[in-house]
Amino acid sequence: MKSTAEAVVIGAGSFGSSLVYHLAAHGLDDVVLLDRFGVGEQTSPRAAGLTQQIRRERETTQLAKLSVEKLVRFTEETDILLEFHQSGSVKMARDEAGVAQVTWEIRAGQELGLDIRPIDPDELAERVPWARTDGVQAMWITPSDLFLEPRQVPQVYTAAARAKGVTVLTETPVTVLRREGNGRVTGVETSKGPISSPIVVDAAGAWTRQVAEEAGIRIPVVPIRHQLMITEPLPSVRNEQPICRVIDANVYVRPCWGGLMLGGYETNPLPVEMRDAAPGFQIADMPLDLGVLRGLAASVRGQFPVLDNAPLQTYRGGLPTMTADGKHIVGPVPGAEGFYALTGCIVGGLSISPGLGEMLAQRILTGASAIPLDLYAIDRFAPDFDDEQLVEACVDAYAHHYAEDYAAIG
Ligand SMILES: Cc1cc2nc3c(=O)[nH]c(=O)nc-3n(C[C@H](O)[C@H](O)[C@H](O)COP(=O)(O)OP(=O)(O)OC[C@H]3O[C@@H](n4cnc5c(N)ncnc54)[C@H](O)[C@@H]3O)c2cc1C
Repeated sequence: MKSTAEAVVIGAGSFGSSLVYHLAAHGLDDVVLLDRFGVGEQTSPRAAGLTQQIRRERETTQLAKLSVEKLVRFTEETDILLEFHQSGSVKMARDEAGVAQVTWEIRAGQELGLDIRPIDPDELAERVPWARTDGVQAMWITPSDLFLEPRQVPQVYTAAARAKGVTVLTETPVTVLRREGNGRVTGVETSKGPISSPIVVDAAGAWTRQVAEEAGIRIPVVPIRHQLMITEPLPSVRNEQPICRVIDANVYVRPCWGGLMLGGYETNPLPVEMRDAAPGFQIADMPLDLGVLRGLAASVRGQFPVLDNAPLQTYRGGLPTMTADGKHIVGPVPGAEGFYALTGCIVGGLSISPGLGEMLAQRILTGASAIPLDLYAIDRFAPDFDDEQLVEACVDAYAHHYAEDYAAIG
Protein backbone atom coordinates (compact mmCIF):
# COMPACT_ATOMS: atom_id res chain seq x y z
CA MET A 1 0.00 0.00 0.00
CA LYS A 2 1.33 3.44 -0.95
CA SER A 3 1.92 5.86 1.91
CA THR A 4 2.45 9.08 -0.08
CA ALA A 5 1.02 10.66 -3.23
CA GLU A 6 1.02 13.99 -5.06
CA ALA A 7 -2.79 13.89 -5.13
CA VAL A 8 -5.45 11.62 -3.65
CA VAL A 9 -8.94 11.51 -5.17
CA ILE A 10 -11.75 9.90 -3.17
CA GLY A 11 -14.37 8.13 -5.29
CA ALA A 12 -14.02 6.20 -8.55
CA GLY A 13 -17.31 7.32 -10.09
CA SER A 14 -17.44 9.41 -13.25
CA PHE A 15 -16.23 12.54 -11.43
CA GLY A 16 -13.21 11.01 -9.66
CA SER A 17 -12.08 8.86 -12.58
CA SER A 18 -12.16 11.75 -15.06
CA LEU A 19 -10.27 13.96 -12.61
CA VAL A 20 -7.42 11.49 -12.01
CA TYR A 21 -7.03 10.92 -15.75
CA HIS A 22 -6.72 14.66 -16.33
CA LEU A 23 -4.37 15.22 -13.39
CA ALA A 24 -2.06 12.59 -14.86
CA ALA A 25 -2.53 13.93 -18.42
CA HIS A 26 -1.47 17.38 -17.16
CA GLY A 27 1.75 15.94 -15.79
CA LEU A 28 1.15 14.83 -12.21
CA ASP A 29 3.15 11.60 -11.75
CA ASP A 30 1.89 10.17 -8.52
CA VAL A 31 -1.91 10.22 -8.31
CA VAL A 32 -4.01 7.79 -6.25
CA LEU A 33 -7.72 7.08 -6.83
CA LEU A 34 -9.49 5.40 -3.91
CA ASP A 35 -12.89 3.75 -3.77
CA ARG A 36 -14.65 2.03 -0.89
CA PHE A 37 -16.19 -0.41 -3.43
CA GLY A 38 -15.20 -1.10 -7.06
CA VAL A 39 -14.68 1.27 -9.99
CA GLY A 40 -17.95 2.87 -11.12
CA GLU A 41 -20.28 0.62 -9.17
CA GLN A 42 -22.51 3.16 -7.41
CA THR A 43 -24.56 5.97 -8.98
CA SER A 44 -22.64 6.39 -12.27
CA PRO A 45 -23.54 3.04 -13.90
CA ARG A 46 -27.23 3.64 -13.10
CA ALA A 47 -27.47 6.91 -15.05
CA ALA A 48 -29.42 7.33 -18.27
CA GLY A 49 -26.25 8.30 -20.13
CA LEU A 50 -27.65 11.38 -21.88
CA THR A 51 -25.98 14.64 -22.73
CA GLN A 52 -27.66 18.02 -22.96
CA GLN A 53 -25.21 20.69 -24.00
CA ILE A 54 -27.41 23.74 -23.61
CA ARG A 55 -27.56 24.66 -19.93
CA ARG A 56 -28.77 27.60 -17.92
CA GLU A 57 -25.33 29.11 -17.22
CA ARG A 58 -22.82 30.01 -19.90
CA GLU A 59 -19.95 28.13 -18.19
CA THR A 60 -22.05 24.97 -17.73
CA THR A 61 -22.94 25.02 -21.43
CA GLN A 62 -19.26 25.44 -22.30
CA LEU A 63 -18.34 22.52 -20.01
CA ALA A 64 -21.12 20.31 -21.39
CA LYS A 65 -20.09 21.13 -24.96
CA LEU A 66 -16.44 20.42 -24.21
CA SER A 67 -17.48 17.14 -22.57
CA VAL A 68 -19.30 15.93 -25.68
CA GLU A 69 -16.29 16.84 -27.81
CA LYS A 70 -14.03 14.90 -25.42
CA LEU A 71 -16.30 11.84 -25.40
CA VAL A 72 -16.36 11.82 -29.20
CA ARG A 73 -12.54 12.07 -29.39
CA PHE A 74 -11.88 9.73 -26.45
CA THR A 75 -11.12 6.50 -28.33
CA GLU A 76 -8.87 8.25 -30.83
CA GLU A 77 -6.93 9.92 -28.02
CA THR A 78 -6.58 6.96 -25.68
CA ASP A 79 -6.96 3.84 -27.84
CA ILE A 80 -9.61 2.68 -25.37
CA LEU A 81 -13.02 1.86 -26.85
CA LEU A 82 -15.91 4.13 -25.81
CA GLU A 83 -19.20 3.46 -27.60
CA PHE A 84 -21.91 6.11 -28.01
CA HIS A 85 -24.82 7.09 -30.25
CA GLN A 86 -24.66 10.69 -31.43
CA SER A 87 -28.31 10.82 -32.46
CA GLY A 88 -29.09 14.29 -31.11
CA SER A 89 -31.65 15.44 -28.60
CA VAL A 90 -35.01 17.16 -28.84
CA LYS A 91 -36.77 19.30 -26.24
CA MET A 92 -40.56 19.73 -26.34
CA ALA A 93 -42.55 22.60 -24.84
CA ARG A 94 -46.24 22.11 -24.15
CA ASP A 95 -46.98 25.41 -22.40
CA GLU A 96 -46.05 29.08 -22.48
CA ALA A 97 -43.22 28.76 -19.97
CA GLY A 98 -41.76 25.92 -22.01
CA VAL A 99 -41.94 27.98 -25.21
CA ALA A 100 -40.00 30.76 -23.43
CA GLN A 101 -37.38 28.19 -22.40
CA VAL A 102 -37.04 26.70 -25.89
CA THR A 103 -36.66 30.18 -27.37
CA TRP A 104 -34.10 31.19 -24.73
CA GLU A 105 -32.08 27.99 -25.13
CA ILE A 106 -31.89 28.27 -28.93
CA ARG A 107 -30.61 31.85 -28.66
CA ALA A 108 -28.20 31.18 -25.77
CA GLY A 109 -26.86 28.00 -27.40
CA GLN A 110 -26.31 29.61 -30.80
CA GLU A 111 -24.48 32.51 -29.14
CA LEU A 112 -22.03 29.95 -27.75
CA GLY A 113 -21.56 28.24 -31.11
CA LEU A 114 -23.78 25.25 -30.33
CA ASP A 115 -25.70 23.70 -33.22
CA ILE A 116 -29.22 24.03 -31.76
CA ARG A 117 -32.26 24.98 -33.85
CA PRO A 118 -36.05 24.71 -33.99
CA ILE A 119 -37.44 21.46 -35.37
CA ASP A 120 -40.92 21.16 -36.90
CA PRO A 121 -43.38 18.28 -36.38
CA ASP A 122 -42.73 16.79 -39.84
CA GLU A 123 -38.99 16.52 -39.24
CA LEU A 124 -39.60 15.06 -35.79
CA ALA A 125 -42.04 12.46 -37.22
CA GLU A 126 -39.35 11.43 -39.69
CA ARG A 127 -36.65 11.17 -37.03
CA VAL A 128 -38.73 9.76 -34.15
CA PRO A 129 -41.68 7.70 -35.46
CA TRP A 130 -42.76 6.81 -31.89
CA ALA A 131 -43.19 10.46 -30.78
CA ARG A 132 -46.38 12.54 -31.25
CA THR A 133 -46.48 16.34 -31.31
CA ASP A 134 -50.15 16.96 -30.48
CA GLY A 135 -50.19 19.77 -27.90
CA VAL A 136 -46.49 20.55 -28.42
CA GLN A 137 -46.02 24.29 -29.01
CA ALA A 138 -42.26 24.54 -29.66
CA MET A 139 -39.23 22.25 -29.99
CA TRP A 140 -35.50 22.43 -30.53
CA ILE A 141 -32.99 19.85 -31.71
CA THR A 142 -29.29 19.67 -30.82
CA PRO A 143 -27.91 17.19 -33.39
CA SER A 144 -24.57 16.66 -31.58
CA ASP A 145 -26.08 15.47 -28.27
CA LEU A 146 -25.46 11.79 -27.63
CA PHE A 147 -26.27 8.88 -25.35
CA LEU A 148 -24.15 6.01 -24.12
CA GLU A 149 -24.06 3.09 -21.71
CA PRO A 150 -23.20 4.96 -18.52
CA ARG A 151 -20.98 2.35 -16.87
CA GLN A 152 -18.39 2.96 -19.57
CA VAL A 153 -17.52 6.47 -18.36
CA PRO A 154 -15.80 5.60 -15.04
CA GLN A 155 -14.42 2.41 -16.56
CA VAL A 156 -12.74 4.01 -19.56
CA TYR A 157 -11.42 7.00 -17.62
CA THR A 158 -9.98 4.72 -14.95
CA ALA A 159 -8.39 2.53 -17.61
CA ALA A 160 -6.90 5.59 -19.33
CA ALA A 161 -5.69 6.91 -15.96
CA ARG A 162 -4.00 3.59 -15.15
CA ALA A 163 -2.24 3.75 -18.51
CA LYS A 164 -0.84 7.12 -17.43
CA GLY A 165 0.46 5.69 -14.15
CA VAL A 166 -2.40 6.47 -11.74
CA THR A 167 -2.75 4.01 -8.85
CA VAL A 168 -6.33 2.81 -8.42
CA LEU A 169 -7.17 1.22 -5.09
CA THR A 170 -10.62 -0.36 -4.79
CA GLU A 171 -12.22 -1.78 -1.62
CA THR A 172 -10.29 0.95 0.18
CA PRO A 173 -12.60 3.33 2.03
CA VAL A 174 -11.26 6.63 3.28
CA THR A 175 -12.05 6.69 6.98
CA VAL A 176 -10.46 10.00 8.04
CA LEU A 177 -9.29 13.22 6.36
CA ARG A 178 -6.03 14.25 8.02
CA ARG A 179 -5.77 17.96 8.92
CA GLU A 180 -3.14 20.13 10.57
CA GLY A 181 -3.94 22.66 13.31
CA ASN A 182 -4.22 25.45 10.69
CA GLY A 183 -6.89 23.47 8.84
CA ARG A 184 -4.66 22.29 5.99
CA VAL A 185 -5.55 18.82 4.71
CA THR A 186 -2.45 16.61 4.62
CA GLY A 187 -3.79 13.27 3.45
CA VAL A 188 -6.23 10.51 4.29
CA GLU A 189 -6.51 7.44 6.45
CA THR A 190 -7.99 4.41 4.79
CA SER A 191 -9.01 0.94 5.90
CA LYS A 192 -5.60 -0.21 4.60
CA GLY A 193 -3.40 2.54 6.04
CA PRO A 194 -2.65 6.27 5.74
CA ILE A 195 -1.62 8.17 2.59
CA SER A 196 0.03 11.59 2.95
CA SER A 197 -0.75 14.03 0.17
CA PRO A 198 -0.78 17.83 -0.27
CA ILE A 199 -3.90 17.55 -2.46
CA VAL A 200 -7.05 15.64 -1.53
CA VAL A 201 -10.25 15.75 -3.59
CA ASP A 202 -13.65 14.65 -2.32
CA ALA A 203 -15.55 13.08 -5.22
CA ALA A 204 -17.40 10.53 -3.12
CA GLY A 205 -20.84 10.99 -4.73
CA ALA A 206 -23.67 10.44 -2.25
CA TRP A 207 -21.04 10.07 0.51
CA THR A 208 -19.25 13.37 -0.26
CA ARG A 209 -20.67 15.19 2.71
CA GLN A 210 -19.89 12.42 5.22
CA VAL A 211 -16.28 12.10 4.05
CA ALA A 212 -15.68 15.81 4.74
CA GLU A 213 -17.89 16.23 7.77
CA GLU A 214 -15.83 13.85 9.90
CA ALA A 215 -13.03 16.41 9.56
CA GLY A 216 -15.28 19.36 10.41
CA ILE A 217 -15.78 20.50 6.78
CA ARG A 218 -19.38 21.03 5.64
CA ILE A 219 -20.31 20.49 2.00
CA PRO A 220 -23.92 21.49 1.28
CA VAL A 221 -25.20 18.68 -0.94
CA VAL A 222 -28.20 16.39 -0.58
CA PRO A 223 -28.43 12.99 -2.31
CA ILE A 224 -31.85 12.63 -3.94
CA ARG A 225 -33.19 9.42 -5.46
CA HIS A 226 -33.52 9.46 -9.24
CA GLN A 227 -34.96 6.54 -11.22
CA LEU A 228 -35.56 5.31 -14.75
CA MET A 229 -37.16 2.33 -16.49
CA ILE A 230 -36.43 0.45 -19.71
CA THR A 231 -39.08 -1.34 -21.79
CA GLU A 232 -38.71 -4.58 -23.68
CA PRO A 233 -37.78 -4.09 -27.37
CA LEU A 234 -40.42 -2.18 -29.34
CA PRO A 235 -41.03 -1.94 -33.09
CA SER A 236 -39.56 1.13 -34.81
CA VAL A 237 -37.09 2.02 -32.04
CA ARG A 238 -33.53 2.55 -33.31
CA ASN A 239 -30.36 3.90 -31.72
CA GLU A 240 -30.15 6.58 -34.42
CA GLN A 241 -33.24 8.29 -32.96
CA PRO A 242 -32.77 11.34 -30.74
CA ILE A 243 -33.32 11.64 -27.00
CA CYS A 244 -36.65 13.42 -26.30
CA ARG A 245 -37.33 15.63 -23.27
CA VAL A 246 -40.69 17.11 -22.26
CA ILE A 247 -40.13 20.26 -20.23
CA ASP A 248 -43.29 20.64 -18.13
CA ALA A 249 -43.34 16.91 -17.26
CA ASN A 250 -39.60 16.82 -16.38
CA VAL A 251 -39.35 13.57 -18.37
CA TYR A 252 -36.79 12.14 -20.82
CA VAL A 253 -37.12 9.21 -23.22
CA ARG A 254 -34.46 7.57 -25.38
CA PRO A 255 -33.80 4.34 -27.27
CA CYS A 256 -32.22 1.64 -25.10
CA TRP A 257 -31.50 -2.03 -25.82
CA GLY A 258 -34.17 -2.10 -28.58
CA GLY A 259 -36.83 -0.60 -26.29
CA LEU A 260 -37.29 2.83 -24.73
CA MET A 261 -35.82 4.24 -21.53
CA LEU A 262 -37.94 6.72 -19.56
CA GLY A 263 -36.80 8.68 -16.54
CA GLY A 264 -37.72 11.91 -14.88
CA TYR A 265 -37.99 14.21 -11.92
CA GLU A 266 -40.97 13.76 -9.64
CA THR A 267 -42.40 16.72 -7.78
CA ASN A 268 -42.03 15.00 -4.38
CA PRO A 269 -38.59 13.39 -4.58
CA LEU A 270 -36.90 11.36 -1.87
CA PRO A 271 -33.88 13.03 -0.22
CA VAL A 272 -31.62 10.49 1.50
CA GLU A 273 -29.73 11.16 4.74
CA MET A 274 -26.52 9.13 4.34
CA ARG A 275 -25.73 9.44 8.07
CA ASP A 276 -28.67 7.07 8.66
CA ALA A 277 -27.54 4.53 6.04
CA ALA A 278 -26.37 1.11 7.24
CA PRO A 279 -22.53 0.84 7.36
CA GLY A 280 -22.21 -1.38 4.28
CA PHE A 281 -24.92 0.48 2.31
CA GLN A 282 -24.46 0.52 -1.46
CA ILE A 283 -26.61 2.25 -4.08
CA ALA A 284 -27.95 -1.18 -5.14
CA ASP A 285 -29.62 -1.42 -1.69
CA MET A 286 -31.71 1.69 -2.24
CA PRO A 287 -35.46 1.00 -2.40
CA LEU A 288 -37.04 1.91 -5.74
CA ASP A 289 -40.59 3.00 -6.50
CA LEU A 290 -41.97 1.93 -9.86
CA GLY A 291 -45.16 3.88 -9.13
CA VAL A 292 -43.20 7.12 -9.56
CA LEU A 293 -42.03 6.02 -13.00
CA ARG A 294 -45.52 4.91 -14.06
CA GLY A 295 -46.78 8.35 -13.01
CA LEU A 296 -44.11 10.09 -15.07
CA ALA A 297 -44.92 7.87 -18.07
CA ALA A 298 -48.60 8.78 -17.75
CA SER A 299 -47.70 12.48 -17.83
CA VAL A 300 -46.22 12.10 -21.33
CA ARG A 301 -48.72 9.57 -22.71
CA GLY A 302 -49.81 12.05 -25.41
CA GLN A 303 -46.25 12.29 -26.75
CA PHE A 304 -45.20 8.65 -26.42
CA PRO A 305 -48.30 6.43 -26.72
CA VAL A 306 -45.97 3.54 -27.54
CA LEU A 307 -45.11 3.42 -23.82
CA ASP A 308 -48.69 2.56 -22.86
CA ASN A 309 -48.64 -0.97 -21.46
CA ALA A 310 -45.18 -1.60 -22.91
CA PRO A 311 -43.68 -4.52 -20.93
CA LEU A 312 -40.73 -3.54 -18.75
CA GLN A 313 -37.28 -5.03 -19.10
CA THR A 314 -35.87 -3.39 -15.96
CA TYR A 315 -35.80 -0.28 -13.80
CA ARG A 316 -33.06 1.25 -11.67
CA GLY A 317 -32.10 4.26 -9.59
CA GLY A 318 -29.25 6.05 -7.89
CA LEU A 319 -28.39 8.95 -5.61
CA PRO A 320 -27.20 12.01 -7.49
CA THR A 321 -26.23 14.98 -5.31
CA MET A 322 -28.25 18.22 -5.49
CA THR A 323 -27.28 21.71 -4.34
CA ALA A 324 -29.54 24.51 -3.15
CA ASP A 325 -29.16 26.55 -6.36
CA GLY A 326 -28.89 23.70 -8.87
CA LYS A 327 -25.23 24.40 -9.70
CA HIS A 328 -22.24 22.11 -9.16
CA ILE A 329 -19.79 22.51 -6.28
CA VAL A 330 -16.29 22.36 -7.72
CA GLY A 331 -13.00 23.76 -6.47
CA PRO A 332 -10.95 24.49 -3.36
CA VAL A 333 -12.60 24.51 0.05
CA PRO A 334 -11.70 27.68 1.98
CA GLY A 335 -10.19 27.06 5.42
CA ALA A 336 -8.96 23.62 4.38
CA GLU A 337 -5.95 24.30 2.17
CA GLY A 338 -5.17 21.39 -0.16
CA PHE A 339 -8.75 20.12 -0.04
CA TYR A 340 -11.10 20.28 -3.06
CA ALA A 341 -14.73 19.32 -3.67
CA LEU A 342 -16.04 17.81 -6.91
CA THR A 343 -19.71 17.25 -6.24
CA GLY A 344 -23.26 18.50 -6.63
CA CYS A 345 -23.69 16.56 -9.85
CA ILE A 346 -27.29 17.86 -10.33
CA VAL A 347 -28.20 14.62 -12.13
CA GLY A 348 -25.83 15.59 -14.92
CA GLY A 349 -22.45 14.55 -13.58
CA LEU A 350 -21.86 11.63 -15.90
CA SER A 351 -22.05 13.71 -19.06
CA ILE A 352 -20.20 16.76 -17.74
CA SER A 353 -17.43 14.81 -15.99
CA PRO A 354 -15.00 14.85 -18.96
CA GLY A 355 -14.91 18.65 -19.11
CA LEU A 356 -15.26 19.27 -15.40
CA GLY A 357 -12.47 16.78 -14.63
CA GLU A 358 -10.15 18.54 -17.05
CA MET A 359 -10.98 22.03 -15.76
CA LEU A 360 -10.57 21.06 -12.10
CA ALA A 361 -7.24 19.40 -12.91
CA GLN A 362 -6.09 22.68 -14.52
CA ARG A 363 -7.36 24.65 -11.52
CA ILE A 364 -5.54 22.41 -9.05
CA LEU A 365 -2.26 22.41 -10.96
CA THR A 366 -2.10 26.00 -12.22
CA GLY A 367 -4.57 27.98 -10.09
CA ALA A 368 -6.78 28.75 -13.13
CA SER A 369 -8.78 26.92 -15.79
CA ALA A 370 -9.67 27.63 -19.42
CA ILE A 371 -13.37 27.57 -18.49
CA PRO A 372 -13.61 29.45 -15.17
CA LEU A 373 -15.01 27.50 -12.22
CA ASP A 374 -15.87 30.54 -10.02
CA LEU A 375 -19.58 29.92 -10.52
CA TYR A 376 -19.24 26.60 -8.72
CA ALA A 377 -17.22 27.86 -5.74
CA ILE A 378 -18.37 26.37 -2.46
CA ASP A 379 -18.11 29.70 -0.63
CA ARG A 380 -21.31 30.92 -2.30
CA PHE A 381 -22.92 28.96 0.56
CA ALA A 382 -22.40 29.84 4.24
CA PRO A 383 -20.58 27.02 6.10
CA ASP A 384 -23.16 27.17 8.91
CA PHE A 385 -26.09 26.41 6.57
CA ASP A 386 -29.29 25.09 8.09
CA ASP A 387 -29.88 21.44 7.21
CA GLU A 388 -33.65 21.62 6.92
CA GLN A 389 -33.52 24.63 4.60
CA LEU A 390 -30.84 22.93 2.53
CA VAL A 391 -32.96 19.82 2.00
CA GLU A 392 -35.96 21.98 1.10
CA ALA A 393 -33.97 24.01 -1.45
CA CYS A 394 -32.40 20.87 -2.99
CA VAL A 395 -35.76 19.14 -3.29
CA ASP A 396 -37.13 22.25 -5.01
CA ALA A 397 -34.15 22.42 -7.40
CA TYR A 398 -34.66 18.73 -8.24
CA ALA A 399 -38.43 19.00 -8.76
CA HIS A 400 -37.98 21.86 -11.26
CA HIS A 401 -34.97 20.40 -13.02
CA TYR A 402 -36.23 21.08 -16.55
CA ALA A 403 -39.03 23.52 -15.90
CA GLU A 404 -37.41 26.69 -14.67
CA ASP A 405 -38.50 30.26 -15.11
CA TYR A 406 -36.57 31.17 -18.25
CA ALA A 407 -38.65 34.26 -18.85
CA ALA A 408 -37.07 35.61 -15.64
CA ILE A 409 -33.51 34.82 -16.77
CA GLY A 410 -33.98 37.15 -19.77
C1 LIG B 1 -31.37 7.13 -12.89
C2 LIG B 1 -30.31 8.16 -13.12
C3 LIG B 1 -30.21 8.76 -14.37
C4 LIG B 1 -29.19 9.70 -14.60
N1 LIG B 1 -29.05 10.18 -15.86
C5 LIG B 1 -28.00 10.96 -16.14
C6 LIG B 1 -27.75 11.38 -17.47
O1 LIG B 1 -28.50 11.05 -18.38
N2 LIG B 1 -26.69 12.16 -17.70
C7 LIG B 1 -25.84 12.55 -16.73
O2 LIG B 1 -24.89 13.28 -16.98
N3 LIG B 1 -26.01 12.16 -15.45
C8 LIG B 1 -27.08 11.38 -15.14
N4 LIG B 1 -27.28 10.95 -13.87
C9 LIG B 1 -26.41 11.49 -12.81
C10 LIG B 1 -25.10 10.74 -12.78
O3 LIG B 1 -25.33 9.39 -12.52
C11 LIG B 1 -24.24 11.34 -11.67
O4 LIG B 1 -24.13 12.73 -11.88
C12 LIG B 1 -22.85 10.76 -11.64
O5 LIG B 1 -22.93 9.38 -11.66
C13 LIG B 1 -22.13 11.24 -10.40
O6 LIG B 1 -20.92 10.59 -10.31
P1 LIG B 1 -20.10 10.57 -8.97
O7 LIG B 1 -18.72 10.21 -9.35
O8 LIG B 1 -20.32 11.86 -8.24
O9 LIG B 1 -20.81 9.48 -8.05
P2 LIG B 1 -20.64 7.86 -7.95
O10 LIG B 1 -20.69 7.24 -9.29
O11 LIG B 1 -21.62 7.39 -6.96
O12 LIG B 1 -19.17 7.71 -7.40
C14 LIG B 1 -18.82 8.04 -6.08
C15 LIG B 1 -17.84 6.99 -5.60
O13 LIG B 1 -17.31 7.38 -4.32
C16 LIG B 1 -17.07 6.20 -3.59
N5 LIG B 1 -16.93 6.49 -2.16
C17 LIG B 1 -17.89 6.93 -1.33
N6 LIG B 1 -17.40 7.09 -0.08
C18 LIG B 1 -16.09 6.74 -0.12
C19 LIG B 1 -15.05 6.66 0.84
N7 LIG B 1 -15.26 7.00 2.13
N8 LIG B 1 -13.84 6.22 0.45
C20 LIG B 1 -13.60 5.87 -0.84
N9 LIG B 1 -14.57 5.93 -1.79
C21 LIG B 1 -15.79 6.35 -1.45
C22 LIG B 1 -18.28 5.33 -3.92
O14 LIG B 1 -18.04 3.96 -3.65
C23 LIG B 1 -18.49 5.62 -5.40
O15 LIG B 1 -17.85 4.68 -6.24
C24 LIG B 1 -28.30 10.05 -13.57
C25 LIG B 1 -28.42 9.46 -12.32
C26 LIG B 1 -29.40 8.52 -12.09
C27 LIG B 1 -29.50 7.88 -10.76
